[in-house]
Amino acid sequence: MGRVVPVRDDLVGLKGYHSPQVDVEVRLNTNESPLPPPEEWLTELSDELRHIDFNRYPDRRVSGLRDALARFHDVEPTHVFCANGSNEVLQCLLLAYGGAGRTAALFEPTYALHRHIASVTATTVVSGWRRPDFRLDLDVVDELLETAQPIITFLCSPNNPTGRAESSDVVEHVLERAPGLVVVDEAYGQFAPCSALDLVRRGGAGSDRLVVVRTFSKTWSMAACRLGYLVAPPDVVDACEAVALPYHLDAVTQAAGRLALRHVGAMETRVATLNEERGRITAVLAELAVETWPSDANFVLFRPLGRGATEVWNDLLASSVLVRDCSTWPGLDGCLRVTVGTAPENDRFLAALRSSLEEKP
Ligand code: PMP
Repeated sequence: MGRVVPVRDDLVGLKGYHSPQVDVEVRLNTNESPLPPPEEWLTELSDELRHIDFNRYPDRRVSGLRDALARFHDVEPTHVFCANGSNEVLQCLLLAYGGAGRTAALFEPTYALHRHIASVTATTVVSGWRRPDFRLDLDVVDELLETAQPIITFLCSPNNPTGRAESSDVVEHVLERAPGLVVVDEAYGQFAPCSALDLVRRGGAGSDRLVVVRTFSKTWSMAACRLGYLVAPPDVVDACEAVALPYHLDAVTQAAGRLALRHVGAMETRVATLNEERGRITAVLAELAVETWPSDANFVLFRPLGRGATEVWNDLLASSVLVRDCSTWPGLDGCLRVTVGTAPENDRFLAALRSSLEEKP
């Protein structure tokens, strides 16, 4: 047997972040869009493929896509950085601003990758708990920021997996007290009624430390492409570019994103459909023996009452419906998360859940 070479001491025991993928008929576990992107987009992308110089490296500056995103958000292209999914955007931020001897703050329960990527980049993580209704407790926020002086403060809005978006007032409150960057992860931003991008555009106090991260994986129905971006002051964009690998964003993904932005109306229609379906799911859940929390995103967190989360998860799986078991995540005892699917998928989920809850505990 060969000698096992040890990984970095601080990574011993670290597991990769994965969602169990099971072959099921109704997949409601990873917050993807259940709806495909428009047919016209696919035709345009196929045509575009013929014009890509596949023997050449892609545009390192990602000019076309950045220009299109800048127009979409009414900012300058120097305020936009793109990468392979918003996870890579977060990684670039942590590579540039985190690292040994530096601290990132977050508020649990929240998106696990904030902590995970911070750990991988050797950034110290400090965290505070949300209130029982999963809203931020501003006293906890203030104290954590005061004592830890984090270089990055993560907000997730809407927060995955609990669902609520943060108002501009809350983001402004955090910006006032955070000594470093405030990174607002808006992976589900278009589902919500408010966005920190308003603060970016208004350019108010602290907006020179505000970073808004978005993705094409959810509302744009393009999870297969791996495309995310941030809108931030140019010095943050420059720092991310400095740590990103050369030519990190391939030409096909760049084209896919640029062309998607021609179909904003179709995206908004999909979002409206899913928000309507979320309302329907929430209304039915309110009649069942579950605790739920309001959501501004394309998923709903719920806690079965009188029957264990794992039993319910297994019952749903037996009906070929896969949801996310969050019951072992910090602060989420007994909770499951369902992604909003198509109307027939949601019907399958609700029927399977109803019959599971009717089972004897
Ligand atoms: N942020 C949040 C809050 C998410 O839930 C996700 C996806 N689960 C991401 C970022 C990452 O998305 P992607 O890398 O696909 O852009």
